[in-house]
Amino acid sequence: MTVALVPERPVSLWPAAHAADARRPRSLQTKIGASDTVCARRAGYLLHGCTPTDGGEKRKAILGTWLHEGALEAIRNEYGWIIERRVEDDTIRGHIDAVQLDSRTALRLPKRLRPRLPAEEVTVEDIKTKSTFQWDNILRHGASYAELRQVLLYADLLRTEGFADVRGQRQLARLGPLPVGRIRFRFLNRDSGDDHVQEMPFQAEQARGARWWVNQVRAAEAPEDLPRTFPGPGLSAICDNCPFRTACWGPALAGHRPQSMLIHDDAERQQALAEYVEVSEQIKPLKDRLKVLRARLDGSAEGVYGDNTLSWSGGNPTKVDDVDAMVVLFKQAGVPVPMAPDATVMKAQLMAAGIPVPVRLDHERRTSVSINVTTAKKP
Ligand code: SF4
Repeated sequence: MTVALVPERPVSLWPAAHAADARRPRSLQTKIGASDTVCARRAGYLLHGCTPTDGGEKRKAILGTWLHEGALEAIRNEYGWIIERRVEDDTIRGHIDAVQLDSRTALRLPKRLRPRLPAEEVTVEDIKTKSTFQWDNILRHGASYAELRQVLLYADLLRTEGFADVRGQRQLARLGPLPVGRIRFRFLNRDSGDDHVQEMPFQAEQARGARWWVNQVRAAEAPEDLPRTFPGPGLSAICDNCPFRTACWGPALAGHRPQSMLIHDDAERQQALAEYVEVSEQIKPLKDRLKVLRARLDGSAEGVYGDNTLSWSGGNPTKVDDVDAMVVLFKQAGVPVPMAPDATVMKAQLMAAGIPVPVRLDHERRTSVSINVTTAKKP
């Protein structure tokens, strides 16, 4: 009977997209790549050839890849920049999104490979797609440390080795090491199409820091010897989608957060509790101040004020189930309308009659657990 209420859905795109993504060279890579340098522990798992323990949601990443490919193709066709080319040395490898050569270097290439839009100095570009949710952070703070590390490694490989001498890029490889002058991030907003460019001079000193990071990962005897760069599932989207999250944090603990495995004894508990109190005391004045400022701004018109844009969201009517409309739909479909006791009406009538509403414990659903920390009584 319910079939009539469920319209037939066209076959989903995502199983095909996930299968295609799993076959991409990057997904099969077991050696460390510049794009794998997000988390030290994760880079360790990859370097040691560990089998991923988790699948996970990849739809956003796949959308990002598709956008990426389209953007790079446009850059290549219109500006003649060099896209998706391999760089490597004995320790690390990767594919640079785009290289914009300067005129002088470009003259060393056959005409058909020269950029129509050269740069003032050799520039290594990386494209990052972001959601609106992340956009304000990008505009305010730019690339993260991990993103910076990745591009510094690409640029340093190009500076020290040049393009890799592999099929399809032999002429580029003949250029040898290139004098990289700038690195550039091009952020694309997946939702609005806005773009934001962040450029900076390439500094070999910074690249040395990135190389040191890679060497630390390579020196570790086991992935477990490496630090977790992120705070774990539930606290970091990177961990939530990490293919090694079970290897890293262990199987899910019933009723407890994965991070609880980091505390082994009362001494560690005491230390964490003391830090919890210290941090609470530090943020309380800031939270109070935020409340005051929010109250002051209440009712201010939306607009640009100095460096910041003010806008308001929310305040809309909330959606509730339209039972009457559902009844109509069921009747139209010839499906019996379920007749369940109406708990709201029954409660109201019991209360009006002064009779306590009976309750029972539901062991399937639990109230959220709050932490309460007070000063311990001295013995
Ligand atoms: S779960 Fe998080 S901390 Fe652990 S390896 Fe993955 S990204 Fe790193």
